[in-house]
Amino acid sequence: MSIIIDEDQCTGCGNCVDSCPYGAIELENNKAIVLPNCNLCGICVENCPVEAITLERDKVSREKIDLSQYKGVWVIAEHYKKIVHKVAFQLLGKGRELSNLLDSKLTFVILGANFDEEIRKFSEYGMDEIIYIKSPLLKDYYSDLYVKVISELIEEHKPEIILIGATPTGRDFAPRIAKRLHAGLTADCTGLDINPETKNLLQTRPTFGGNIMATIRTPFSRPQMATVRPGIFKAPKKIKKEVQVKIIDYNFTEEDSVSKIIKIINTSKTPVNLEDAKIIVAGGRGVGSKENFKLIEDLANVLGAELGGSRITVELNWLDPDRQIGQTGVTVSPKLYIACGISGAIQHIVGMENSNIIVAINKDPDAPIFNFAHYGIVGNLHEIIPILIEEIKKITLNKE
Ligand SMILES: Cc1cc2nc3c(=O)[nH]c(=O)nc-3n(C[C@H](O)[C@H](O)[C@H](O)COP(=O)(O)OP(=O)(O)OC[C@H]3O[C@@H](n4cnc5c(N)ncnc54)[C@H](O)[C@@H]3O)c2cc1C
Repeated sequence: MSIIIDEDQCTGCGNCVDSCPYGAIELENNKAIVLPNCNLCGICVENCPVEAITLERDKVSREKIDLSQYKGVWVIAEHYKKIVHKVAFQLLGKGRELSNLLDSKLTFVILGANFDEEIRKFSEYGMDEIIYIKSPLLKDYYSDLYVKVISELIEEHKPEIILIGATPTGRDFAPRIAKRLHAGLTADCTGLDINPETKNLLQTRPTFGGNIMATIRTPFSRPQMATVRPGIFKAPKKIKKEVQVKIIDYNFTEEDSVSKIIKIINTSKTPVNLEDAKIIVAGGRGVGSKENFKLIEDLANVLGAELGGSRITVELNWLDPDRQIGQTGVTVSPKLYIACGISGAIQHIVGMENSNIIVAINKDPDAPIFNFAHYGIVGNLHEIIPILIEEIKKITLNKE
């Protein structure tokens, strides 16, 4: 795709220059010219009063793409303060399964500044190859630099499948890359497999408000791109493996990006770590009020657990949004999940069904949550939880 300016038509009015959010158009000799940092958003096209600018799409026909050129599974990592997001390692587990089914290579791609020492340690996750894009500027996440580098890398190496974490960062750069490459992207997948006959990637995700699961294929374009939320897949067991490492140096300067990171501000009041929590106590509408949530918190405290809840409790302002569990919240997989006054709607279940042990407390014996719970307590949570707290305290005291 490219921006084409018809010099004969262009009057040099400068509307496009003013409208471009990326500062990617200039006037030269009273004619508009497009700069290399153009991101092909097309806003200039809409703002040109004389229709001198067009966004020309490359003619991609299904027949023209030689699918056989595309080989290998890539997992693209992200990191913050030098810590690689664990979803990347979880994707390596699934990526290995897919690459084995396709008899192809598994590649881990990381963009960063100071990973020279860690890079060999990553090999414990069993990939065949690591591509490390190195630049001092890539210490932090720059959306446009990620899109540029990864798109170029994909065009050069032609991977068949790309897996990215469905984190705020992954959700930012994955669709931009897909758009640039005319590739299909399925967001928030909960299942990935290979069709044994066509060898296409089968990407399963909840749809229609989570009421049905859709399996999506992208048979005519490559790469096949999918994002997956943290906690859906498990990281593989660590192994000893010799891995090919390719380090590619980029000499980015701040001028190469339209954005400039001045300061990173952590806005969360208390760090919520539901994804890594071993025990979660979650409350639903059945808790009754914000004040009543104190009881759920007390149970969480005696168990050393994280506090979570259903979407309704967030909507009612009983709980902070970063504690919402489910389809539009966090996906969790603790050892123990205690659901208090939660009915078990599918949108909640998809976010916690991978928990090792689920305990449900609900006054309705027919509540759907009991279909997923390993242990169920039918009754009023306001009577049951204080008893539970007392019993847990006794056990803890006896242990001391
Ligand atoms: C697109 C979409 C996305 C969504 N995403 C999410 C999501 O990410 N997470 C999520 O949770 N929901 C999500 N929802 C909402 C979801 O459909 C349900 O509405 C929600 O999960 C219900 O929350 P709840 O179980 O707390 O409340 P309810 O369904 O109202 O259930 C309350 C339960 O409490 C029980 N109860 C009441 N009083 C007591 C008591 N004293 N003691 C014991 N039990 C009691 C009741 O029997 C009932 O089973 C989504 C919906 C849509 C359409």
